[in-house]
Amino acid sequence: MLKVTFCGASRTVTGSLYYFDYQPKDGKNVKFCVDAGMFQIGRKVNLYRVNSFLLFDPKEVDFILLTHGHLDHCGRLPYLVKMGFGGKIYSTPATKEIASIVMSDAYKHQQTEEMSEDSEWFEEDFLDSFGVGQKYTDILQEVIKAQESLESLKQKYKFLDKLPDNFAKILNLMEKNDGRLVLYEKKDVDQTVSRFRTYNYNQTFLVHPNLQACFVDAGHILGSSYIILKEISSGKTIIFSGDIGNPSKPIIQDPKMIDTQNHLTHVFLESTYGDRLHDTQSKPEEQICKIIKKTIAKKGKILIPSFSVERAQELVYIIVELIRKNKIPPISIYLDSPMAAAVTAVVLKYPELYDEEMHKLIRSGQNPFKSKYLQILETVEESKKLNHQKKSAIIIAGSGMLNGGRILKHLRFNIENPQNTIVFTGFQAPGTLGRAIVDGQTEVEIEKRLYEVKAEIVKIEGFSGHGDQNMLKKWLFHLFPHKNSITPKVFLVHGEESGAMALKNEIQKSIRQAEIVWPEFGQEEILWE
Ligand SMILES: [Zn+2]
Repeated sequence: MLKVTFCGASRTVTGSLYYFDYQPKDGKNVKFCVDAGMFQIGRKVNLYRVNSFLLFDPKEVDFILLTHGHLDHCGRLPYLVKMGFGGKIYSTPATKEIASIVMSDAYKHQQTEEMSEDSEWFEEDFLDSFGVGQKYTDILQEVIKAQESLESLKQKYKFLDKLPDNFAKILNLMEKNDGRLVLYEKKDVDQTVSRFRTYNYNQTFLVHPNLQACFVDAGHILGSSYIILKEISSGKTIIFSGDIGNPSKPIIQDPKMIDTQNHLTHVFLESTYGDRLHDTQSKPEEQICKIIKKTIAKKGKILIPSFSVERAQELVYIIVELIRKNKIPPISIYLDSPMAAAVTAVVLKYPELYDEEMHKLIRSGQNPFKSKYLQILETVEESKKLNHQKKSAIIIAGSGMLNGGRILKHLRFNIENPQNTIVFTGFQAPGTLGRAIVDGQTEVEIEKRLYEVKAEIVKIEGFSGHGDQNMLKKWLFHLFPHKNSITPKVFLVHGEESGAMALKNEIQKSIRQAEIVWPEFGQEEILWE
């Protein structure tokens, strides 16, 4: 018997976490998870409450399989360790390194981020926003407001039986610690890192005497993978897509297609962009090229807020290539983010994961990350020196949505100068400074001071780490035996309603008999009897 409980990334895009109970006909019963990601919602959210709400006891989990190192896939691993998880964590070697950086950063972030009691928590649409259906929204609110009556609530709602015993204790603790609760400490992160066991792509390994796992390149970020999990005795197989990459991305290889597996019973398919088609016409490098030329002509600086994992490296690659191809004049590029610097160092360590273009550049001595135009800044002093530089330059710094990081200091110095340009390359969540600027606000508060927005604001479309609807369909259909036979059941995960429903319709247009489920938080499904 194999049963799954959906504990995150259900009807939402963050908090990826699937809990499994495996009871083989012969041999030892085990419990395991795939991913243990953090819910990331809004800014002032009480991270602790959302993320500590587990539907199982981590002490009982035997092992965890990790698809990749993004926070929404690995950010709760140290919390599970803190709560008693004592098993191994399996990933690719690059994922282990990226996840280590990301988890350390998450820990530091929790120390500084305000996590005080927050009215937003109780607002309905907030609860909805992390994928808790209406039914659970009501229950959750009741549980949180009335901790002393947890026992009576348990009798009322069978759902609450799944809560670990320590849940009431956690709730009490939360009430007592006015806003200084962190999900985990540095020692938990260190412990977590020591639990990793790594395997390269396409290498099969045993996670149980009767269960074999294998990572396949998902082309999303360095080290990212799909997971193929097979019961050896029966041949029954399930596949997790993790996050499927966008084939047009530089540096790493394109997402692989997996051939039909003999006894494939279930597919967990991400649906982030299930309703979107990437614009293949407007190439981001062409838009960046125009902006850089225009800003150099104005003798201004170009500020690019960026996420540290993958996007920062992609930007460096694109800009260095523009210089190499003489499409823009030589210009200094400053990567001013300790986290992006650490991730870039990991990227440099894994040439075997590069695509052919990147290999070609290296063979001809043109590794973009070793370019003479690129300066990776380590210290705050180096960062401060940029304020006094008169020449045009490109500054890439975190955070991507301007809710913290060194980019804020650069903004303060540059946002009121019309010669400069601020370039956004990613989604800006409502409530963030990034969103306010993109929406055209003419005056913004940065680090408690008001600034007029006089710099040119540009939003570049076309950057995406995720495959679009066509890519998701192509990937899934590659797995299906043939159109008229029984197809594996598909769980659409990691997606909002619009993405998941559009993808569902598209799949069923081609394969009418396809069984597709959009699971909600807390839903259980028996995969194998
Ligand atoms: Zn991801």
